Amino acid sequence: MSDTRLIHDHDDVAGLLSVEDARERVLSQIHPLAPLQLPLTDADGCVSAEDVVATHDLPEFASSAMDGFAVRASDISDATPGSPVELKIVGRALIGRRPEAVVGGGEAVRIATGAPIPAGADTVVPIENAEPGAEVVRIFDAPAAGQHVRPAGEDVKDGQVLVPAGKRLGPPELGLLANAGFPHPIVHPRPRVIVLSTGDELIPPTETPEFGQIRDSNAYTLYAGLRDLGAMPVLAGIVTDDVDALRETVLSYVIQADAFVSSGGVSVGERDVVKAAFSRRGDLDFYKVAMQPGMPQSFGHIEGKPFFGLPGNPVSVFVSFEIFVRPAMLKMMGRTQLLRPEVTATLAEDVSGPKGKLQFARVRLDRSGDGWIATPTGPRGSNLISTVTRANGLAMIPVGTATAAAGSQVRVMVFRSAED
Ligand code: AMP
Ligand code: MG
Repeated sequence: MSDTRLIHDHDDVAGLLSVEDARERVLSQIHPLAPLQLPLTDADGCVSAEDVVATHDLPEFASSAMDGFAVRASDISDATPGSPVELKIVGRALIGRRPEAVVGGGEAVRIATGAPIPAGADTVVPIENAEPGAEVVRIFDAPAAGQHVRPAGEDVKDGQVLVPAGKRLGPPELGLLANAGFPHPIVHPRPRVIVLSTGDELIPPTETPEFGQIRDSNAYTLYAGLRDLGAMPVLAGIVTDDVDALRETVLSYVIQADAFVSSGGVSVGERDVVKAAFSRRGDLDFYKVAMQPGMPQSFGHIEGKPFFGLPGNPVSVFVSFEIFVRPAMLKMMGRTQLLRPEVTATLAEDVSGPKGKLQFARVRLDRSGDGWIATPTGPRGSNLISTVTRANGLAMIPVGTATAAAGSQVRVMVFRSAED
């Protein structure tokens, strides 16, 4: 923590790292995962690690956009409803087959939508403008050359970049890559993230607590947050406040981990197990960030794998995840837009907090005319997780402001849409 920029604006926050510096410190130590060749179904949602370049035109052959007759436009340039032109039917063009017939002067080939255009033809007359007999077809309309023909190479030209490096593969990209013959694109894979909950008081949510016990909620908040951003969470369960047990559990997961996220046990107390297990050997840094909730944080590497030691309180976990873990995981996935969108909103009520810290206040954002209204969803205790369920934004009350008054403008980080 050598280049720490300290905040000195308030006595009891001296020595705290600003949120931006803390995040930058983390992100500077996070790198995109090494590219991997994955089947399209697994590559969905991943970022392409290279420019994918077309090796041929798409579509690869000219085809008909209508059911009708493939003809030469020059043969029927005089056709009208009153004086139709007769062409000799010389064969059929079927979907998925090479046409048997060639269209010569005065000839036509019956063609289905999607079938390849036979050699010699340049135009398709839809069946509505034709009257087929057994041997000949009467054409009632003079089409422009090329009408109802989908030319080869209309979508993509040989050598064109189909998907640039850095582009996230979504539904249209998957479809295009499949169509162009790239069933195994090279992408940054999804990180496999090991989630641990520390605390002697914790039990799984499937059990009934004895007096003083608490059902583990953080693991599920983290699981959902990781899934939502596209990572692959692995729930490693509850670890008691025992240094050896924690070290052993973490080390047993190193081989399959791309990163770790734990909650609890990072404060200053004697019994703070993450600190006791990983501070002495210098695996992790423990530091305080000028934010509320979420002041105590830790980050470092264990056996080369990034490890986030988040505080234990459920709202602190949610906020710390949003501010530090989420952008880091997105960076590991090769994403470049790492931060949530922000809006400016009008506060519906006063919001008070510690003057020396950036306060993240849970708010519900509602549309109001052209702008947004931010309504706090409850008191700011960092254990009150239900207040987050009613929120879709985190209003940021800046360092230096003790009370943001009702009616004032605040920046709000939007973590989900109003409908969710
Ligand atoms: P700690 O930082 O370990 O002292 O935890 C701070 C507070 O968060 C304590 O009241 C813990 O009981 C609570 N807490 C820690 N981990 C969890 C968890 N996984 N689920 C719910 N509450 C937790
Ligand atoms: Mg604890």
